Amino acid sequence: MFFLLTEPISHLPGIGPSLALKWQKLGVLTVGDLLSYYPRKWEDLSTLSPLTAAQAGQKITAKATILAISHFRSPYKKMFITNAVIQDKSGSLRVVWFNQPYLRTTLKKDEEYYFSGNIGSYQGHLTLMSPVFEKADHSPLHAGRIVPIYPETVGISSKIIRRVMKTLLNTIRHQPEILPENIIKEYRLVPLAAALENIHFPASEIELKHARQRLGFDELFFIQLSLAFIKQNWGKLPSQPMPVPPDFLANFQSHLSFILTAAQTKAIHEILNGLSADQATNRLLLGDVGSGKTVVAAAAIVAAVKNGYQVALMAPTEVLAMQHYQNLKSLMDKFGVTTTLLTGSTKLADHSEIASGQIDLVIGTHALIQKQVAFKNLNLVIVDEQHRFGVAQRYQLKNKAGATTPHFISLSATPIPRTVFLSLFSDLDVSILTEIPAGRLPIITRLATANNLEKIQVLINKEILAGHKIFVITPLIEEDTKAERASIASETQNLAKLFPQARIATLHGRIPAEEKLQIMQDFKEGNINILLATSVIEVGIDVPKATVIWIKNAEWFGLAQLHQLRGRVGRSNLQSYCLVETKMEDLETLDRLKAFIKIRDGNELAKIDLALRGPGAFFDTQQSGFLRLKIANLLDEKLIKTTHQAARDLIQADPFLKNHPELKQKIQLNILPHSE
Ligand code: ADP
Ligand code: MG
Repeated sequence: MFFLLTEPISHLPGIGPSLALKWQKLGVLTVGDLLSYYPRKWEDLSTLSPLTAAQAGQKITAKATILAISHFRSPYKKMFITNAVIQDKSGSLRVVWFNQPYLRTTLKKDEEYYFSGNIGSYQGHLTLMSPVFEKADHSPLHAGRIVPIYPETVGISSKIIRRVMKTLLNTIRHQPEILPENIIKEYRLVPLAAALENIHFPASEIELKHARQRLGFDELFFIQLSLAFIKQNWGKLPSQPMPVPPDFLANFQSHLSFILTAAQTKAIHEILNGLSADQATNRLLLGDVGSGKTVVAAAAIVAAVKNGYQVALMAPTEVLAMQHYQNLKSLMDKFGVTTTLLTGSTKLADHSEIASGQIDLVIGTHALIQKQVAFKNLNLVIVDEQHRFGVAQRYQLKNKAGATTPHFISLSATPIPRTVFLSLFSDLDVSILTEIPAGRLPIITRLATANNLEKIQVLINKEILAGHKIFVITPLIEEDTKAERASIASETQNLAKLFPQARIATLHGRIPAEEKLQIMQDFKEGNINILLATSVIEVGIDVPKATVIWIKNAEWFGLAQLHQLRGRVGRSNLQSYCLVETKMEDLETLDRLKAFIKIRDGNELAKIDLALRGPGAFFDTQQSGFLRLKIANLLDEKLIKTTHQAARDLIQADPFLKNHPELKQKIQLNILPHSE
């Protein structure tokens, strides 16, 4: 059987509607997604050991025949027990399984299997304890080989994934090569088909290593290629400088309700200088959560509009785009800047007004990139939380500027390791906001457990009484079948009981956009006291009166993500609180949360997150960010340099990738947003 990469996974044997839905939740929709659902790690169960050599405490894999097998239910605790004796050339060994009644039908006497498990002592005998097993045919999947362990989820175990992958084996083997031959040769890479086969079904440790090298290379190479492509073609077209009069900043300041920090003033100066230069600006504005990046961007917007140009501001989520719209609109009104909002679901924007130039500032999500959206004279593009977007999305927005290169500013709170910075962002100018606005009190962070629920109640009631706002964050929308994690559904009832007087609203990804806008407005300025939300509010949301954020199942979030969530409070001079709740008692979780409680600096936390959870988790949560890597290590300086070189050479030889339409298509495909 052969499947196309674009085929939905429901075409595969063994994947029915309910399994397809589970896969969908993991972001796996097509055969192509499935092929790149790489294992998290591999376990070498390939070396067979003779049964008689088994020692207590060892993990062994053996190929053996079942001599005898019996099942019974023990009176004690009503446990279902399976006893067996297995035999290989060297001798025999006892085996025991607990509570696996289905073994009655799967394991057969006189048949040969691979067994893999730990040797322990049971009823005084050396025994193989609850081993995984598989029929000993010529190509085993789960034992007797190097076995892939996949990121699992409820209802999708590694065993299931391995079986599905096996149905794709033929497809994998016929995957065409995507890299040019000279690159394969020069960097001594194994063919793509072989790499894919060995990542899922490693023939040996060495082949697995080569497979990881190859796929890691691809991952970084395509990022590098996008960057090299953009760099090569950036600024090729003429740009239009946007100078401002000397009193611009003083005038801008006079319309604000607060005094700009020194860092903001410096950044605005740098940006204005860039905008007035002949070469189009390509600048990254970095600043920790709450450092006040938006107002810096606002200064650039006003400068552009005063020069008679249009501006696009793109945010990664609908909620954030709406908030920017709400916040910036009143400021923009003061400068006579006309503003609209354009997202996938809002109908606010009038496309013809954008095309005719009546609208100066268009704030939106990646809906801005759509073909129908045309500008009259776009000359400044601002991307908020830029790490959330694919590399070449900026390139696409740039195309909206017609035959000129627009100025480009991206905003990010993500601290970026130096190596990554140098190799991936070396073409950018950088401004950094090194301070947060004066008068902010440090946020008090506490571990919340069931024991201090009363204290939490008292605190929250007090804050509500003072007119302040409360966030409660849960990892899920719908109730967890295992009831391990809090959800919007479960907490709605809980909170209503705990705070009968409070007005509680909920916010999550499935609420229609217009409604979201209203809820946010009512929370910010109206009479909603508590906003129960998922991490949709994680990036960027700004509610100055919010003083408490109570994060349920905090263990579920990475440190960088927790830091973003904590950044939702403490955004004014009110004392704020962050309560991280967990029921977990393992040291790893507690240590991580303790670090979070102690450390306030985003950079520090990011470093710890990076060390604990790896670069993939560090840069991103569920949404697609271009630095979300599955295989390559972001700290692998050598690979970053190698792929950089390879991409640059290729682009130098073929600047528009005319000879490599498939590569061009690949970098375009890579950048399509997966979700909002
Ligand atoms: P971020 O850098 O996380 O995007 P925002 O731009 O959302 O931060 O700003 C956070 C909050 O701080 C907003 O409410 C904003 O109005 C406020 N703010 C920004 N600059 C200052 C300042 N210089 N003084 C006081 N408040 C400020
Ligand atoms: Mg922001």
